[in-house]
Amino acid sequence: MIIPKETKLTPDQLQEVISIVGEYNCRIQTIEGHHRTIYAVLGEERETIMVNRILGLDYIDRFDAVDSPFKLMDIHSELSFHKIKIGSAIVGEEPLIIAGHCTIDPKNPNLFLESAHAVKEAGAKAIRGGVWKPRTMPYSFQGDDNSMEILVEARNQTGLPVDTEVMDQHQLEIAVEAGVDVLQIGARNALNYSLLKKVGELTADKPIAVLLKRSMGMGPVNEFIAAAEYIAAGGNPDVMLCPRGTQPTMDGYRNYPDESITPLLKEKTWAPVIVDPSHSVGRAKYVASASLAAMSYGADGLIIETHIDPKRGIGDDPKQALSPEELKQLISDIKEIWEIKRRNEVIA
Ligand code: PEP
Ligand code: MN
Repeated sequence: MIIPKETKLTPDQLQEVISIVGEYNCRIQTIEGHHRTIYAVLGEERETIMVNRILGLDYIDRFDAVDSPFKLMDIHSELSFHKIKIGSAIVGEEPLIIAGHCTIDPKNPNLFLESAHAVKEAGAKAIRGGVWKPRTMPYSFQGDDNSMEILVEARNQTGLPVDTEVMDQHQLEIAVEAGVDVLQIGARNALNYSLLKKVGELTADKPIAVLLKRSMGMGPVNEFIAAAEYIAAGGNPDVMLCPRGTQPTMDGYRNYPDESITPLLKEKTWAPVIVDPSHSVGRAKYVASASLAAMSYGADGLIIETHIDPKRGIGDDPKQALSPEELKQLISDIKEIWEIKRRNEVIA
């Protein structure tokens, strides 16, 4: 739909527009309103070069596409009834709570294994554990390939699916080979399109889901869904969207909490939304409130850093991780909100 700056195009301007869209096998349908006239483009209206040429005309205000740009992730796409299964949980049918360490300490495997058992006992449906970590400083602990064995051992012992972040192809290959259940793409790589494509390709037709974090600088909702579209277009539609706070920060929090994006995402995509309150607020004492807010906004689940003894943790755990007891109480509160939300859906 082409919207001119003035109330209608002059005959010469209309002729120029018709001639440009004609080069792309499109036609113009003029729609005259009371106050202004708009021009529908009939044909493949998403042709980028055509759109840019129209937008380049100084008498054009906007070009709004009617068709969704998301062939796979759109709420009305062929995949609109697609369900993602993580272990025994079908995402969307019960709250998906993923919990565990920010970072696995390879020198202390038992700590992670004990936390894994404890989060299961608290009611988590999957275990998180960072094998590799994106760290601001190159001198900080970057993770360790050997931690993959510990992660897999946690799955073997608990029977729960496991989640870890990958940042490059080397890590991706190790994680796919190990059969990690959920691959996390972190905020720093959410716009790394080459990696997103590779993730889609290497996990296609495998029982591996992808948890795509929202980049800290990502503004438009569509930019987030487009990143997910890369993974689906690469071959794996099992993508879950994870708001985790943006920047600049809200004074006092680590990031700017963004769980309120959940309903906006859900209007446009069928993809489940799993919010990360831990990185959003960045302090254990605020995580419960952020979690309940996220569930009230309609999130399908949460990923929560949890540690059996946070002060012995590495990475974010000393400041962000909940104890398993706190997680247990939180999961019980989350279930209440889940019930209220579902009840309201039935009434509405
Ligand atoms: C994490 O989950 O530990 C992490 C580094 O997250 P993010 O990519 O959201 O910063
Ligand atoms: Mn972390």
